[in-house]
Amino acid sequence: MLDLTYDMPKPKIIAGAKHDWELVIGLEVHAQVSSNAKLFSGASTAFGAEPNSNVSFVDAAMPGMLPVINEYCVEQAVRTGLGLKADINLVSAFDRKNYFYPDLPQGYQISQLYHPIVGEGEVLVELGDGTARQVRIERIHLEQDAGKSIHDMDPHMSFVDLNRTGVALMEIVSRPDIRGPEEAAAYVTKLRQILRYLGTCDGNMQNGNMRADVNVSICLPGAYEKYQETQDFSHLGTRCEIKNMNSMRFIQAAIEIEARRQIAIVEAGGKVDQETRLYDPDKNETRSMRSKEEAHDYRYFPDPDLMPLEIEQGWVDDIQASLPELPDEKKSRFINDFSLSDYDASVLTAEAESAEYFESVAEGRDGKLAANWVINELFGRLKKDDLDITDSPVSPAQLGGIIELISAETISGKIAKDLFEIVFNEGGDPAVIVEERGMKQVTDTGAIEAALDQIIADNPAQVEKAKVNPKLAGWFVGQVMKATGGKANPKAVNQLVAQKLAQ
Ligand code: ADP
Ligand code: MG
Repeated sequence: MLDLTYDMPKPKIIAGAKHDWELVIGLEVHAQVSSNAKLFSGASTAFGAEPNSNVSFVDAAMPGMLPVINEYCVEQAVRTGLGLKADINLVSAFDRKNYFYPDLPQGYQISQLYHPIVGEGEVLVELGDGTARQVRIERIHLEQDAGKSIHDMDPHMSFVDLNRTGVALMEIVSRPDIRGPEEAAAYVTKLRQILRYLGTCDGNMQNGNMRADVNVSICLPGAYEKYQETQDFSHLGTRCEIKNMNSMRFIQAAIEIEARRQIAIVEAGGKVDQETRLYDPDKNETRSMRSKEEAHDYRYFPDPDLMPLEIEQGWVDDIQASLPELPDEKKSRFINDFSLSDYDASVLTAEAESAEYFESVAEGRDGKLAANWVINELFGRLKKDDLDITDSPVSPAQLGGIIELISAETISGKIAKDLFEIVFNEGGDPAVIVEERGMKQVTDTGAIEAALDQIIADNPAQVEKAKVNPKLAGWFVGQVMKATGGKANPKAVNQLVAQKLAQ
């Protein structure tokens, strides 16, 4: 069980001219499955390849070609489902969703409308202020991606790139449990984090490997609670769906502006039409793409080229047993084992690689000190050089060595920063560097006392002032530190200064 307790976040309220309104949001996230080959063909999924170079006869829908399911993509979908604590359906099936588009050579997309591979699951969405919401997952289905039409390369022609055609996508459909723009972004962030931990989607939103259709409706306070009690959608407002969002910032802006549009309509006595809309970031507005009346009739039917997909419980159990520790569990363990704050544990577990790094630094050492050093010094320094944690010039063993020197009071915190910079730039064993370069902290009170006596003797006026105003003691501490090249143990210096000035 998770050892984290959170309060329920409040829904976002938008004040209209007449009423306060609440938001209701449900997301359909399309996540590209991490796999070298496509869902039904052996063609490569490599990003950035020469246009139309990763296209097999199946992807190009040549006559007589038959799809063959890629077992690894199925495994990835199952792994994702298990990671979201969802039901796995041992029998699922593929349907054809028929529509015409130049970048869809088959004339249909193979998807799973009626029998998805994954059923109900859940995602804990933490908002960073001590509140969190459990967002229910309705289903995850596997489907093919379409190709890309390019309209801006030639004034007279459009081009089609089929490299993406047939790449496996997981469509992860949430219940309408999200109650504000920040929550929507936090949900996508959490989902992305879990998928990256699982290794089932790289979550690269810029490359379009994760994109979301955002469903938004508004309701009066109290209506959502009625929906929750009854699961009856008629308590909710009519939703509009904003298609294909691939930026956290735009998701938030689009939700807010779409909610305000709906509020204005309803308060003016109108009705919201259920429709698909597009967000225009330049104008910060959503525009109608198609209304429900013009919605496609996809004429879904089971794909006759593909048998229903049957998987065995034993295989699902094997995948379950191979799951890595997931973010919630890792975070809660970090809080318990290393006495970290909720915030620090969140930062350190945001990426599996950072968590792993931290853990090898913290193991057997002072966890809090390790967290401070990883978050404040290491992350900051890596960012400055635009480096990834996996490319850190300072290894966990080296940082661990620095931390041991601090814990043993061999070096002061200040010297430790210099030492870190040396290790970062030149490498080497921290303990050896400290030895060779004489960076050891002076805890020998005799040496500190000698330095302090000299300073007192040289500055009688300053001594008189400090005797009446104890705040000036800091000046002496600073002078001793300077005289000892920053190597004096600050605790010892403070004590001695206080003693001497009291005499
Ligand atoms: P479709 O394929 O027609 O978009 P789906 O059932 O696949 O329908 O997805 C509907 C999405 O809309 C789900 O994420 C669901 O949670 C969300 N949704 C349903 N009703 C509402 C509502 N009233 N307000 C906001 N979101 C909603
Ligand atoms: Mg939809």
